[in-house]
Amino acid sequence: MPVDFMKTPLLELFGAHSFSNAVMRERLPKSVYKEVLAVQAGEKELTLATADVVAQAMRDWAVEKGATHYTHWFHPLTGLTAEKHDSFISPAPEGGGTIILEFSGKELIKGEPDASSFPSGGLRATFEARGYTAWDVTSPAFLKQDRTGLTLCIPTAFISYYGQALDKKVPLLRAMEALNQAALRVLHAIGNETARRVYTTVGPEQEYFLVDKSFFERRPDLSLTGRTVFGSMPAKGQEMEDHYFGAIKERVADFMRELNYELWKVGVAAKTQHNEVAPNKFEIAPVFTNTTAAVDANQLAMETIKSVARRHGMEALLHEKPFAGVNGSGKHNNWSMATDDGVNLFEPGEDPASNARFLLFATAVVEAVDRYALLLRSSVATSGNDHRLGANEAPPAIVSVFFGGPLTEIFENIAAGKDNAKNKGSAHIELGVTSLPRLPKDVSDRNRTSPFAFTGNKFEFRMVGSSQSIATANTYLNTAVAQVLGEFADKLEKSGKKNEAIEEIIRESYNRHRRVVFNGNGYSDEWVREAERRGLPNVKNTVDALSVLVAGETVELFERHRVFTREESESRFHIYLEKYSKQINIEAGVTIDMARRGIFPAAISYAARLAQDANALAAIGAKSGPGEIRAKKIAELAAVLFDETAKLETALGDAQKTGDVLAQAESYSGKVRPAMDGVRAAADQLEKLVAKKDWPYPGYEDMLFVL
Ligand code: ADP
Ligand code: MG
Repeated sequence: MPVDFMKTPLLELFGAHSFSNAVMRERLPKSVYKEVLAVQAGEKELTLATADVVAQAMRDWAVEKGATHYTHWFHPLTGLTAEKHDSFISPAPEGGGTIILEFSGKELIKGEPDASSFPSGGLRATFEARGYTAWDVTSPAFLKQDRTGLTLCIPTAFISYYGQALDKKVPLLRAMEALNQAALRVLHAIGNETARRVYTTVGPEQEYFLVDKSFFERRPDLSLTGRTVFGSMPAKGQEMEDHYFGAIKERVADFMRELNYELWKVGVAAKTQHNEVAPNKFEIAPVFTNTTAAVDANQLAMETIKSVARRHGMEALLHEKPFAGVNGSGKHNNWSMATDDGVNLFEPGEDPASNARFLLFATAVVEAVDRYALLLRSSVATSGNDHRLGANEAPPAIVSVFFGGPLTEIFENIAAGKDNAKNKGSAHIELGVTSLPRLPKDVSDRNRTSPFAFTGNKFEFRMVGSSQSIATANTYLNTAVAQVLGEFADKLEKSGKKNEAIEEIIRESYNRHRRVVFNGNGYSDEWVREAERRGLPNVKNTVDALSVLVAGETVELFERHRVFTREESESRFHIYLEKYSKQINIEAGVTIDMARRGIFPAAISYAARLAQDANALAAIGAKSGPGEIRAKKIAELAAVLFDETAKLETALGDAQKTGDVLAQAESYSGKVRPAMDGVRAAADQLEKLVAKKDWPYPGYEDMLFVL
């Protein structure tokens, strides 16, 4: 039965709705549980016999908790999650109108949703609508609760009938496998005999805004697009820096606690939460986990943030830039690599051997980020993120790596062939100091402006948009690192003297890719110029950023690691372009609608009233000039608004008529978006002149400060 948060102790609450390994250990026969672990570790294939036993245990567990339905829960390329519910009931064999509860291994392993209306980019014609979902054993099933009951959600991958990936999970699993293989080869080559599997860990920091529901409902732009397409800046912004880490308002604290309860219940270890820099902006971060589980948990967190906010009379905005002029929201993808025997490969060690390993793996990341900068950039290319990246706030559209002074110095020394890594004694001392916890200077040397920062024992990829699934970024990142590690492994396996080979690889690689290392202020204009001198790409918009997906080198990279076939790469390119165009199409439509039906009439009638009032004042011999001047100014601006709206309408019509997917996206980017800016400029000036009570929409000063 539904959990009562108030009465359930935390230890009992956590994971109460998660079919975790702990639950499986308790409920499955020992041999079956071992089988599941082996499947999770990629050592065995799942058999139907095992699935049958797990399904039964899962069903019993879910029904005991009050579940009535189950669903295969998956990540189509819309970036959201999808579910289709089936109830557990089945007519009893003996008939007579009675039922039994049924859920077989087959139903656990494979589902067949009607897949025709999910984007497939041509991979699956609508008449061939069959796609199927397959159980992802690496991410725990969970129960989703609404007011009347519970649904068993089974994380799944979504695949076409011919085996092509139709979702964000399949490529991620493939990329993790590629990274596993390459990393294991490197580890074995440098003498690690114990590791049997390497996987990536992720802890995403999720940012969001909260807005009172009454304001949200009166803003068609917010409710239809997630962002405001109009809005003049309020007198107060974030300049007082009073919101960051500020005391959390009671209403928000209530919301956050309930959000935590809900997440804990499904086994998501929500850990930190705080106010962010911008007013009414917040952040939540979980304890990191295996990447597939982290991706699912983040999707779930985004959904839960929204639904819990509604219970508290608020709307949560996950858009990258809901308010122009105010810091937007991102997601910090904290990422590391770990072995199955518990070693974090980005943890600088205590001894020269583990330091050498650390430096080798860190070098691989530097090389991967430099070589595949365009790919990483494309993983965060969305119309929402275009407003944020490079817009004087974290982070710029240039991909660079931050290491901090001391660590950079060590790399520089190795690259220059200085003896700090050669001489055994000094290696111990020199490399020993890279153990960051012992180096207060480096720990405090935190850089907030780097898009890819080393933060002690993990890397933080900070370009991901707040509304995005983190699956794509991790898929590309893992593939890129797998490629470089594979090349390192080729060299190491051939070489006799391992220590010298390691040093040689680091020196060579770092020398070639040090240009991507940057420890300074990533927001500064000098960096933009400096990056250009270094030859680092600075891709400012989505359409340009996506093109790398169909470049020959990328297609080959993905094919080599079996992450995407050529067809899959091409289909994704199309889907992402289409999504971009659709998003701007909606935004432009809302802009026209609000300008025409809301702002223009309000401005005109207010100006007319001002003029009338001025006449009335003149009639009694009072001063009427100011009212007249203002009325005139408003009427003029309204005329500009009128013209700009017409221009936008033309640009939009042209874009809609464009047949080719790429040309269409370019048209939305190059023509429609600037035209929207034109309408906005006039509207925002009008907002400053029209009386507040006559303005048809709530302003920033309400939405950003009232909660
Ligand atoms: P910050 O100080 O950067 O705001 P937070 O505490 O808000 O840091 O979030 C840091 C995130 O990094 C958490 O989700 C945490 O679990 C995650 N993290 C820590 N160690 C690792 C690791 N080894 N691999 C992946 N993520 C990690
Ligand atoms: Mg944080």
